[in-house]
Amino acid sequence: MQDEDYTNLVSRRKDSIFVKIIRREIPANIIFEDDSCFAFHDSCPQAPTHFLVVPKKPIACMLEAEDCDESLIGHLIIVGKKCASEVGLKKGYRMVINEGTDGGQAVLHIHVHVLGGRQMTWPPG
Ligand code: 5GP
Repeated sequence: MQDEDYTNLVSRRKDSIFVKIIRREIPANIIFEDDSCFAFHDSCPQAPTHFLVVPKKPIACMLEAEDCDESLIGHLIIVGKKCASEVGLKKGYRMVINEGTDGGQAVLHIHVHVLGGRQMTWPPG
């Protein structure tokens, strides 16, 4: 995401790369799908296991999430937990949402990162 007020970017956004994955227009290594979300492996993993949980509803970022999205966003976290177990992250994992420019968000479509398979450090970079 460029270094500008990300509210401007949100207002100008087009279909994200994740919408194209959800529509099967570009391939992804899918772990899970239901009526409201997808989980698939990240194409540029930052840990031995790194996958994303993405709602089918194209909410750009937390800033755009509304009260009516509460159960959907909670669902992403529960799906992340179930997928972590499915892919064998027995020693734990980290869940991350990068928000906006300072949060390091690159794709304007809310997603939960699930990273595992190595010891995570704190504070994050
Ligand atoms: P963000 O920085 O927005 O929180 O994370 C976006 C993530 O999406 C990055 O980890 C990046 O590697 C991943 N990503 C970007 N494009 C693609 C893609 O086409 N396929 C998959 N599987 N992951 C992608």
